[in-house]
Parts: sequence; structure tokens; C-alpha cells
Amino acid sequence: MHPFIVLFIDLFFIMTGLNSQHMQDQFREQRDRMVELQILRRGITDASVLDAMRSVPRHEFVPAHFMDQAYGDHPLPIGEGQTISQPYIVALMTGVLELGPGDRVLEIGTGSGYQAAVLAEICDSVFSIELVPSLGRRARRVLGKLGYENVVVKIGDGYRGWPEKAPFDAIIVTCAPEDVPEPLEAQLTEGGKMVIPVGGTYTQELILLTRENGRLEEKDLIPVRFVPMKNADGGNY
Ligand code: SAH
Repeated sequence: MHPFIVLFIDLFFIMTGLNSQHMQDQFREQRDRMVELQILRRGITDASVLDAMRSVPRHEFVPAHFMDQAYGDHPLPIGEGQTISQPYIVALMTGVLELGPGDRVLEIGTGSGYQAAVLAEICDSVFSIELVPSLGRRARRVLGKLGYENVVVKIGDGYRGWPEKAPFDAIIVTCAPEDVPEPLEAQLTEGGKMVIPVGGTYTQELILLTRENGRLEEKDLIPVRFVPMKNADGGNY
């Protein structure tokens, strides 16, 4: 090959390499700012949650044309009428579960896979169920590419939980049923916590359940708006 062409090809790769390094640095800055302004300032101080939110590349989980908005203070569409939650809500839900490194967590509503990645930074293993096959497959691909080997994504209806893998130290539900699904309650360990939005299509309350002496203690957190939990026929739970 003509040396000039070789030089040109080398330059091309050096430039694109530099460009992508520059972009990674920019995303890191945006992520640090997101944690500072949207999360710390709103009172979430748990170091493991803040570190996880600083580490997970949220821009990898949103559609390419929304990448520049990935660190904004709002949810974003991810296709199939579904959304990736606002960063603050992800941090809040993660924090109230008070996770430790040995914990096993069940997530209902994988969506983009972002919340699962945040959990995977903190705990031992994440079992996540997504109803919509195309979303589940995409989340699996992104999580695999980023090396999250401690997340397993199953495609199916999460209402019944994942009995074969139960019990779980924590359960996080990111779609809203009208009432807490009984099968999920049954899959929580003693001392385990579940965070779940409960209510109708337009307004729900985010609640925290803690299993204490076999009973579930309930605490209301904040009003939220999640997509409804659906069954396989497309109806709402
Ligand atoms: N946690 C996600 C956001 C989820 S949006 C993230 O980090 O991106 C809610 C998701 O719940 C949607 O993808 C929706 O398809 C899914 N969902 C709705 N009903 C479900 C059910 N019964 N079982 C599993 N997933 C369900």
C-alpha cells in the first residue's frame, strides 16, 4: 500500500480514538455533575449509591439520538412506549434498599438495563425480568458489552417473581401494579426490603416494604409516575 494511504489510515484511527476518549471524558464530567446537582443536593448521601451512579455510563443505555440528554434531570423514552427513570428516582430507589455487597436482588421491569447496572455495582447478583422481548434482549446486550456479569435478564412476566432464584434480600419494581403482587412479598428474605410504585395509571405512591418477624412494615416515600405493570395479554395488573 502507498505509504501516504497508510499514514492516512493511521491518522484516521488516532483521530477517532482521541475523539472517543474526549467523548468519554465529557460523559464522565456530565455524570459527576448529575450526581452533585441532582442526587447529593437532594439529600442522598449513601456512598455506595453515589459511587454507582458515578460509574455506570447511563448514555450507553439510552437510544443513540438521546445520548446528549442521558444525564438530564428527567426520564427518557427507550422505545416500545417505555422509559428509563430519572437519575434521582434510580438513586432514591437504590438507596432505600440499603444494599450490601453480598445481597441478591430481584428487579421487575429491566427496561434499558440501567437500574440493573446500578444495582450490580453495589451487590452480589441481580435477577431482572422484562416483559417486552426486544427491550430485554437489548438490555442483555448492553449489560454484556459493559461487562456486568452479575446481572441475569429473563424475558417474561415479573408479576410472579422468580421462584427458582428466591428468596431475595431486596426487590425493586420499576413498573406500577395497583397492589403489591403477593408472589413478590413471598420471595423476600427476613429483613429484606421491597421498593415498589403502587397505584393507578397516572398517580402512584412509591412505597418501601420491610419484612420484619414475618410481617411487612410499610412506609410511603413519594408520589411517582411509572408505566403500568402489564400482563402478557397487554392488560394492567
Ligand atoms: N428499570 C428500567 C426502567 C423500566 S420502565 C430502566 O432502568 O431502564 C418499566 C419496564 O417494566 C418496561 O420496560 C416495561 O416493559 C416493564 N414491564 C411492565 N410490566 C411488566 C411485567 N409484568 N413484568 C416485567 N416487566 C414489565
